Order: sequence, then structure tokens, then C-alpha cells
Amino acid sequence: MALNGGHGFGPGYEGREVFWNAHSYEAVLFFFTAIALVIFAYGIYRRWRMWKALGLPENRTDKAGERIKSLLVNGLLQARTFRESYAGIFHGLIFFGFIILIFGAAIDATQFHFGLPFFHGSFYLWFSLVMEIFGLAVLAGVILAVIRRYVWKPDLLGYRGKPDNRPDDAIVLLLIALIIVTGFIIEALRLHVNVNVDGFTWEHWSFAGYLLSKTLAGVDIGTTMTLHKIMWWGHAALALAFIAYIPYSRLLHIITTPANHYLLSLEPTGTLKPIEDFENAESFGVGRLEEFTWKQIFDSDACTRCGRCQDGCPAYLSGKPLSPKKMIQDIKEHWEDRAAKILAAKALAKKSGGEPEIPEPDKMLVGEVIDLHELWACTNCMYCMENCPALIEHVPKIVGMRQYKVLMEADFSPELQLTYRNMENNSNPWGIGAHLRGEWAKELGIKTLAENPDVEYLFYVGCAGSLDDQGKKVSTAFAKILQAAGVSFGILGEEEGCCGDSAMRGGNEYLYQTQAQMNIEVMNGYGVKKIICTCPHGYNALKKDYPHFGGNYEVYHHTEIIAKLIAEGKITLKKPLEGVTTYHDSCFLGRYNGIYDQPRNILKSVPGTRLVEMRSNHRKSFCCGAGGARMWMEEDIGERINDMRTDQAIEAGAATIAVGCPFCLTMMADGIKDRGKEESMKSMDIAEIVWRSMDLEKATTAEEAKEE
Ligand code: SF4
Ligand code: SF4
Repeated sequence: MALNGGHGFGPGYEGREVFWNAHSYEAVLFFFTAIALVIFAYGIYRRWRMWKALGLPENRTDKAGERIKSLLVNGLLQARTFRESYAGIFHGLIFFGFIILIFGAAIDATQFHFGLPFFHGSFYLWFSLVMEIFGLAVLAGVILAVIRRYVWKPDLLGYRGKPDNRPDDAIVLLLIALIIVTGFIIEALRLHVNVNVDGFTWEHWSFAGYLLSKTLAGVDIGTTMTLHKIMWWGHAALALAFIAYIPYSRLLHIITTPANHYLLSLEPTGTLKPIEDFENAESFGVGRLEEFTWKQIFDSDACTRCGRCQDGCPAYLSGKPLSPKKMIQDIKEHWEDRAAKILAAKALAKKSGGEPEIPEPDKMLVGEVIDLHELWACTNCMYCMENCPALIEHVPKIVGMRQYKVLMEADFSPELQLTYRNMENNSNPWGIGAHLRGEWAKELGIKTLAENPDVEYLFYVGCAGSLDDQGKKVSTAFAKILQAAGVSFGILGEEEGCCGDSAMRGGNEYLYQTQAQMNIEVMNGYGVKKIICTCPHGYNALKKDYPHFGGNYEVYHHTEIIAKLIAEGKITLKKPLEGVTTYHDSCFLGRYNGIYDQPRNILKSVPGTRLVEMRSNHRKSFCCGAGGARMWMEEDIGERINDMRTDQAIEAGAATIAVGCPFCLTMMADGIKDRGKEESMKSMDIAEIVWRSMDLEKATTAEEAKEE
């Protein structure tokens, strides 16, 4: 009895009959496939209407080439997903396994309907082997995912120690596993017949199905064929259920996450879109969901709840109410509720022929959906955005909501109110007389641009570098390095203003724009082209945000300049750095601007440096706690972030915490004090370390002598 359809398979013409034992079901299968596709299409259509129901306009379809590149790198190649080894591996096994299996099913379907002249012999054998391997890969991926979610239970999948396992998570994993397992069982049943009746001898190429078929020894052929039919329908039903389930479950991320990869922001990393037309705008910031752009709302639907954003968020880890994952999920839930109500109101209005009466939201976005403590806990450190595999943009949402509180309701912390008043009156957060800004430079003979505008670089000193005691030491050390290397530079002195970063990130966009425009007017007036900053906050604002207002400059961080001077042999480092040194990445230098290597290379150039990394470093570095205007606010919930970071330095055995940011310098110094380690540890800016190592001057004060 030849059951293979009489295709004449045999050695040299190895193959198999597609739709074996199920020929007559083809029409029924197509009917059910059509139903599954209709359910799928309806789900997507419903979601599409919800995506379109609210949100301000935003263009995210320009520069298609760059968007396609992101889609390929982040979507198809899973670049960000693979940054985490365990999660990357299991997701990769499932993702790539499924792609190959779908490709294989498409080849099967083509063979069945049109016939493929090459679907036999060695092509067929290798095809069988590849399908087998990738089927097992998907199964292995599911097992790893189950172990992680239900056995290991890492906190990133939950919230504050409580797992967040929803029925949907289990259903999806079960569906995938069952599709694969039933696929192998069907194969085993077919092979049992093909081997015993048709005399196939190439069954071992389908090794998993073949091994499984060994368990069928003794089962008669009729029973096997009946079981095959039952299992075949089971397999088909599961696969169709999977397709239909996509838009109604977490599987939707198969569509929304790659879409979000395509819709990425093409602005430089961390840039905040300025509020335009302050004079005529009726409201500022985001107080209601509708005031987000459609893209800001859409990206909450691309969130996979993977928890990578939460995993290193300093606010979350220090016990504050903010979790970027929870925030995105809360926005998503609020949007689902709002969109459904808006669409229902519109449908009702369409029926009655009147205007839709959109109901007021049950909860206010700011203050109810997003708690105010949550909103103000963010340090704008960018850990969430840098590590999110779905490219979700948390920080602009947070700043948008802060803008609403500050500009519309004037409801924000008294400490921040004082800071902003000081910035308004004296263009620095402490309210120190603006005329004192250039005092530190006088004894060094540094000229202002008013005195000599013909210099290569403007050293934009910043508030801390001009007015804070520790900051002034850093400015002095760096200026001396520049002088020793013969670099042509000048400062603005009292013409310099605050860069405005803390105002911008704290939601006071009006104050930020005022500060930025004042600085730009002065700098453009002198025809400034190149700027050096010792503060990464000023560096980032001048480099990426000032171009919005006509300030276009080549902006360098001092570690970039020092690294260049060392490489060119313009400065020589002689004096060794004692003890173990660790480098703390400033968020605004590292994650915002990708400057990780230069500071480390400088430190390695200092003789005798023993550089060690802290547990969190490079793009996974842990914030000092001062960004996002948090520098000027009390930290009264949870543990102090700077103390937690200092603990990492202590754990690394560091005697020196090297930094490249005045905020970090202060926070680390405070952390060392809080931990009672002043005798054995210190924090130093890279410029101070370099100037000391250049060994060009003798100590003139007791304090300097002690430092030496
Ligand atoms: S920017 Fe930093 S502090 Fe703010 S939510 Fe993201 S990870 Fe948390
Ligand atoms: S926002 Fe991004 S990193 Fe955070 S849970 Fe969602 S997908 Fe994961």
C-alpha cells in the first residue's frame, strides 16, 4: 500500500508529500484560515482606530532610509534585545526559529500548489534538517522563558518583589510550545507510516520526529493515520488561534515593536523638542493624555513589559515611586480606556447625527495616573531609553508632564522654585551675583572674549565651574592644562549665563529658553565656533539643544580635549595616581553622548593607574542622582542615589572616584562623606587628576600640600 501519493520518492529522490493524509481537508483549512485572518484584521483595525483616536500630530515618517535601518538592526537583527544575554538568547531562539518555520511553511505551501522542481533530494533533506533544528530552537526558547518567568522570577518582570505574571503571558508561551510539540508529533506519526509502509530511508534527517516515531513501534497503521488526522487538526487549530490572538494579546508587540523601531526619533539622543511660540500657545506641557503626540501614545503599546528600563532606573532601585515600566503601562491602560470611550462617543454621535460628546477622563493623567512623586523622581539619566529594546521614549513624556506642572499650575517643590528664582535673577542656581562669574579666572590671566575675541575655543565654564568651590578648582585645573598645552582659549566671564539644563529638564522651558537665547546672543555676537565645557549638562545643552535657537557650534567636553592633547603629545603625565581608581560615567556624557572611552583612556595614561570598573558601568552605569533638576531638590523618599553609587565604588575597592561632571563630583563627595569614607576615598575630576599628574607646580597651600 503506497501511502505517499505515488510520487515515486526513493533514494536519490528523497522527499515527502505535502498535505499527506490531509488532502481532502484543504478547503476546510482555508476556510478556517480565512476566519483567523478576519479576526486578526479586525483586531488590528480596532487597534488602528484607537491609535488614531487621540494625540497631537508629529512627523515620524521622514528619512525612510534611517528608519528602515533601525527596523533591520533593532527589529530583524534584534540588536538591542541581544544586549541582555539570557533574555536575548531565549527571545532570539523563539524569534528566529519562528521566522525560519514560517519560511518553511511558505515553501511547503508553494510546493503543494505550484510544485517546486527542487523540493526533493538533497534540498529536501537539508530543508528537513533545518526545520527540525529551528523547531527545537523555538521549544528551547520557550523553556528558557518559562524558567525565567516562573522559576527564577527576576524583579524586572514584576514590581517591588511581586511578580507580574498575567494569564496572557502563560497563554502565549503555551500556544507556542503546543504548536511546536504538535508539529513534531504529526511528523512522528507520518514517519511511522512512511518508514513502515512506504519504505522511506531518509527519516533520520527529520531527527526529532524520527526519534519520537520510535515510541510508536507496535501502533498499527490505521490507528496511526487516524491519530495523525486528529493531531493535524489540533496543530492547525493552534496555529490559527495564534494568528487570531495576536492583536488581542501581548503578541501584538510582533507588530507594534517593529513599528516603533521604524518610528524612532531621529533627533540626537536625549534632545527635547522645544515648546514653540510661547506667546500664542494656550497651554504648555502635557496635563492630559490628549496633549501627548500620537507617537508618544503609540509607543506605550509597543512596550513588552520586559522590565529592562526598570532594572537600572536609579529612582526605582532607590525605592522611589517611579518605575519607567509601570509608568508606560499606566499610560497604556489610561489610553486604552480613553480611546475606547472616545470611539464610543464618536460612534454614538454618528448614529444620532450630532457632535460627539467626549466624556471627561475618570482620572487626570498628571497627579492620578502618574503620581507626582513618580513624576519628580526621575533624574533624566536615560537608562530606560538607552536600554529599552522597543525604543520607547520615557524622558520626553516625563519632562512634558513636568512642564505642565511648572508652567500651567506653578505646582512644584519649593526648593526648585528657589532655584528658578535664582536663575531668573542671577542666571545661576545659587543666586550668587552674576558679576562674580569670571572671578576665578583673574589670577590665571585668562582673558574674556570681550578682551580678546580672537581665540580658537570658548571655554564655557558653567555655573558650578564659575561659582562652586569644588567646581572652581576643576575650572582652574583645566585652564592650567590648556595654558600648559598652548591652547588658544577665552571665557565669557560675567557675560556667561546658566546653560538652562536644570530649568529645561525640571519643566521650566520658558526659563531655559530665556537662558539659552541670552547665551546664544552673546556667543553669536563674538562669532564663537568651538566651545569646550567641563560640565556634561552644559555640553549636552549647547551641543544638542541650542541649535533649536540658532546656536550652532562645535562643542567638546573637556575630556575629549584632554585626550586629544595627550594623544598629540602636548601634555605629559608624570606623577602617578595612588591606589585604585574607578571612573563614574556621567549620564549626560555617557548615555547621552557616547563618551565612554576618552575619560578612561586619560586615566590609563596617568602613570601607575589601577583602573577598575564599578558593577554598573558604560551604558548601564548608575546615575549619581543629580540630573533632571534633582540636584536642586530634596531626596526624601527611599535611599539616596549618590550613596548607592558610592557603595558600588567602595565595593570596587576604589580610593579615587574619577568623574567628568561637577554634579557627579558633588554627589560622589557627599556619598563618600555619608559613608564615612573621607579618610580613605576621594572624588576628583579628570582635569584635576591630569593637572596633578603633569606635576608642573608646587603646592602653595597646606590643603594642596596635603592633597599631594
Ligand atoms: S530617565 Fe533614569 S530616572 Fe528617569 S525613568 Fe528613566 S531610568 Fe528612571
Ligand atoms: S518600556 Fe521598554 S524596557 Fe521598559 S518594559 Fe517596556 S519594552 Fe521593556
